[in-house]
Amino acid sequence: MPHRLEVYCTVNNCRYWEQGNRCQADRILVVSDARASEGPESISSLEASTLDATPTGTCAETCCRTFTPAGVGGREEGAYRA
Ligand code: SF4
Repeated sequence: MPHRLEVYCTVNNCRYWEQGNRCQADRILVVSDARASEGPESISSLEASTLDATPTGTCAETCCRTFTPAGVGGREEGAYRA
């Protein structure tokens, strides 16, 4: 059975947003804030799968609030940061 990731999002004017802050998109793309500000606005799935890595040092450098640096502790289920 394919893994279905639950994505919570507060961008409620997105076409994929649904009540309960749930994202209904099949796929999302997360990049560093620095990379996000460079654009472009739209990236295809094929392009997304071949983008260069955008490592960050802290959670604050990405909009993903589940970010945890690799090698730090165990994988904490459902870790979110404000
Ligand atoms: S695609 Fe999903 S995660 Fe991205 S802004 Fe829309 S609802 Fe939020």
